[in-house]
Amino acid sequence: KLGIQEVINWLEKTNEKIQKNKEYLTSLDQAIGDGDHGINMSRGFQEVIGKITSTSYNSLADLLKDVAMTLLSKVGGASGPLYGTAFLKMSMSVKGKEAVDKQALENALEDALNGILQRGKAQLGDKTLVDVWTPVVEFFKNHKVIESPSLEEVSRNAMESTKEVMAKKGRAAYLKERSIGHLDPGSVSSYYLFASLAEAIK
Ligand code: ADP
Ligand code: MG
Ligand code: MG
Repeated sequence: KLGIQEVINWLEKTNEKIQKNKEYLTSLDQAIGDGDHGINMSRGFQEVIGKITSTSYNSLADLLKDVAMTLLSKVGGASGPLYGTAFLKMSMSVKGKEAVDKQALENALEDALNGILQRGKAQLGDKTLVDVWTPVVEFFKNHKVIESPSLEEVSRNAMESTKEVMAKKGRAAYLKERSIGHLDPGSVSSYYLFASLAEAIK
């Protein structure tokens, strides 16, 4: 069950990983992008935590909407609108609910992925964060009980799989073959999000 406190916990854990790995995310983006992914994500999530810990919520939808709006206005780049859209779709998906069970969480994540796909027009295998979100949504669809392989493993393997593929969307696509051999920065930040979700729903 994922309620308001669990979602705050999820985002705090995500923020911790992002702040800790800010330089790492930046170095990944320096290799195949413009070197700002760590800066974008650390600024955005710091703002998210500031907002949601200074506001009191009585609906999950309101909380997720504030997360979305903060990411949309503070992150910038390609990733801001994509993560912002994802949380906005999750907010709409949980409207009227105080907490979500596994089925509702699956629906919310699927709606979020569809929002990302609609907004970014990337396909699976284009070396974007879609390559992590897609197997995660599949994981929720296929697993009645969350055990083995775990959500953390599924998202980590998906993140690692972006290394050996050629980018077809985002800045890294300009490098064509030269994008091969590098992890996709947005897939690494999405891995932090789902590894944190795995901890929050334990
Ligand atoms: P920017 O590329 O504008 O500097 P960021 O560096 O913050 O933005 O984010 C880059 C990440 O955004 C990429 O690593 C990739 O995962 C993701 N991304 C870029 N374009 C797309 C897209 N069209 N669809 C999905 N994800 C994308
Ligand atoms: Mg960048
Ligand atoms: Mg940029």
